[in-house]
Amino acid sequence: MNRLLIEKSVKGRKGYSLPSLDVPEVSLSSAIPAEQIRKDEPMLPEVSESEVSRHFYRLSTKNYNLDSGFYPLGSCTMKYNPKVNEVTASMPGFAQLHPCTLPEHSQGALRLMYELGECLKEIFGMPGVSLQPAAGSHGEFTGILMFRAYHLSRNDSKRVNILIPDSAHGTNPASATIAGFKVITIKSQANGRVDLEELKSKCNEETAGIMLTNPNTLGLFEGQIQEIEKLIHGCGGLMYMDGANLNALMGLTRPGDMGFDCVHTNLHKTFSTPHGGGGPGSGPVCVSEKLIPFLPIPQIIKNGDKYELIEDNPSSIGKVHSYFGNFGVLVRAFTYIRMLGAKGLRTTSEMAILNANYLFTMLKDTFDVPHDEYCMHEFVLSGDRQKKLGASTKDIAKRLLDYSYHAPTIYFPLIVHEALLIEPTETETKETLEDFAEALKKISKEVETDVDLVLNAPHNFDIKRLNDALAARNLNITWTNAK
Ligand SMILES: *Cc1c(COP(=O)(O)O)cnc(C)c1O
Repeated sequence: MNRLLIEKSVKGRKGYSLPSLDVPEVSLSSAIPAEQIRKDEPMLPEVSESEVSRHFYRLSTKNYNLDSGFYPLGSCTMKYNPKVNEVTASMPGFAQLHPCTLPEHSQGALRLMYELGECLKEIFGMPGVSLQPAAGSHGEFTGILMFRAYHLSRNDSKRVNILIPDSAHGTNPASATIAGFKVITIKSQANGRVDLEELKSKCNEETAGIMLTNPNTLGLFEGQIQEIEKLIHGCGGLMYMDGANLNALMGLTRPGDMGFDCVHTNLHKTFSTPHGGGGPGSGPVCVSEKLIPFLPIPQIIKNGDKYELIEDNPSSIGKVHSYFGNFGVLVRAFTYIRMLGAKGLRTTSEMAILNANYLFTMLKDTFDVPHDEYCMHEFVLSGDRQKKLGASTKDIAKRLLDYSYHAPTIYFPLIVHEALLIEPTETETKETLEDFAEALKKISKEVETDVDLVLNAPHNFDIKRLNDALAARNLNITWTNAK
């Protein structure tokens, strides 16, 4: 029987043994004010070691994850998480290093961060970097704060607008708004690209900059990027690129060469750290010459053979995270980049693009295709045809669970009806892609022949359809002994 851990508790049962105390014992009442000392013992489970490990093992099997199967989410994709990263990230010299250790005693860690920064500068084609931001959205926020600092440093205080295409990831308008800017939406053309005429009409002396994703969230390369760059810089604005998913570009082209002034990447997507559930992430930013004075502090520099910290820079926007950001993620990204090398990174992008196009080609007769052209690392299908027969994209996503697949990203980007955004990633085999395409084709057939089967999916799970909104709004993660 699957009893909760707390229900297995037996008074006095223990699963640990601690070494005897080797420091003077301090009484509670001398260390904590009397009114803050709790009256009752906390209710903690008293259980054996095996019960604890079984409990956590059982929890670990409850979620679908990359080690259990194909995970074709587009945009926020969980990509390759090599196990060797865990070996380097858990080396005691890295994992147990206190963040306050003086630079002369933490040269190895400083060197790793310095060299990771150099790698990212090379991959992005940009001269400045900060590893501090803890997420993609945090990188965006950092970048937009630097945009403001740049304009203010030139006494140009009229620039209050950030232009953002309607295909953007939701975090882009959120970051610009939190940084105090007004968001101006730029409509996409029918071919999914930015409408230059519309951009021209909205770009003026109030424009602080533009936030773009290239390839955009439809998986399409923005071929007019040079024209966009001329327009934005021409009216005094700056160029921000959302590089969360850089695995269509690595080694093939560089945001710096396209004229961007700031770009973040997600180490927890493109550079191989597992993510989900709000776990530690990292969203470093690279910047053009113009923004270097405003980068967060501290900056790590190399002076001869030594790595040093620069802490005082009055023009910096300051710190955006304690210490250096999420160091464990940096170790994983560095391991990944050094294992692959320049050629390997390029091959990664080539394979990501090839896999996406192969899967797209297998599916484009089954689903509606809003943009029938070669894609980059991901592509969008529309479930409109199936919707007319009674099953929505959400129903199809639920039915995929019965075929043992995690669903792709659905209903994003917002500009495509019944969207399915699919990214197969570079590491999946040809056979996996073929099996997945087969499953989607079968489901589409089911929609024609037995729509109820799809509408009532999933059939193979104890819990059928959750009210996602309710779970997020009324989060309840504590156990109470209320009987
Ligand atoms: C994931 C993602 C983000 C946000 O990254 P977080 O680390 O979740 O904040 C921003 N833009 C794009 C395109 C993304 O895929």
